[in-house]
Amino acid sequence: MYSWSIVPLAEKALISRIRGRAARRRGVAAGIGDDCAILEIPNGQQALVTTDFSLEGVHFRREWHPAEAVGHRCLTRGLSDIAAMGGNPIAAFLSLAVPPKMPQSWVNQFVKGLLRLADSFHVSLAGGDTAQSPGGVLADIVVVGSVPKGKAIRRSGARPGDRVYVTGALGGAAATLKLLFSGRKLRPADFPCHFHPTARIEVGRFLLEKGLASAMIDLSDGLSTDLTHICEESGVGAEILAPTIPCASIGKPAREVELQFALHGGDDYELLFTAPRGKRVPSRIAGVVVSQIGHITRHKRIVLMNDQGVRFELRPRGWEHFK
Ligand code: ADP
Ligand code: MG
Repeated sequence: MYSWSIVPLAEKALISRIRGRAARRRGVAAGIGDDCAILEIPNGQQALVTTDFSLEGVHFRREWHPAEAVGHRCLTRGLSDIAAMGGNPIAAFLSLAVPPKMPQSWVNQFVKGLLRLADSFHVSLAGGDTAQSPGGVLADIVVVGSVPKGKAIRRSGARPGDRVYVTGALGGAAATLKLLFSGRKLRPADFPCHFHPTARIEVGRFLLEKGLASAMIDLSDGLSTDLTHICEESGVGAEILAPTIPCASIGKPAREVELQFALHGGDDYELLFTAPRGKRVPSRIAGVVVSQIGHITRHKRIVLMNDQGVRFELRPRGWEHFK
């Protein structure tokens, strides 16, 4: 209603552009074009729903991040939350507010990056909203997925004695951000973990199907903060061995990042999970390296042990808003 008067033609054109590009796939009975999308949730499954903001100046800067990478990272945030429950993504919804003077090419590239990633995960962009922003670009992504009834992997399932694992390597995204802050111009292709992070959907699904993980979370805020979330929700503590934490390598030639980035840096979108001691967790799942980094304890604090066997308390020092 009223859209003929308040929505400028450019926005109508944008929606029809997106509509033309967005494939409708399995699980989506009706996508863009009606008042609601209609999704099929497979028999015996539950719906997963997650929502994440990508705000200019908070999550990205136009002078640092190509529009296509902003679109990619925007959707990765949502897909990674689905991965963290062991779920299967079905559809994404994009609410996008763009300032009036924004070049059309920026928006086109943003949508291109987002849709390319959606295609690669067979996820449909099934709706959204479009508006003018009085400030910077605001993008909110909603992803809907599904999981077998009662089987979603929660943050609350870790028990004393469980082993703690991470996928991939950590700290690369935050270490790249530090380079950007220092004024370095970077080639996105040399820093994929920052500009084009991958949600670990297949790993999450494997862990769920094999019944391996007792608790799981995706590493969006940093290991120290996200492990604290698992420990708090599960009512347990953890002991982590510093030398076993896989530190990312970034740049060309590639250099390994300092441990501090792996401990506290956000935006890696790897998975952090726990598994009971008796379970055999493969050292590689769906092509991604899986590392054991410690175990869950009864004492409600997180201890970091260095290579000399000295113990420190590890406090959550990852990303937090409003601090
Ligand atoms: P309504 O007024 O009913 O919200 P809109 O004109 O905002 O309808 O949207 C028309 C259709 O286009 C809807 O299906 C909506 O989900 C979709 N849509 C609008 N903006 C976007 C966007 N940024 N990305 C994807 N789909 C969008
Ligand atoms: Mg609308």
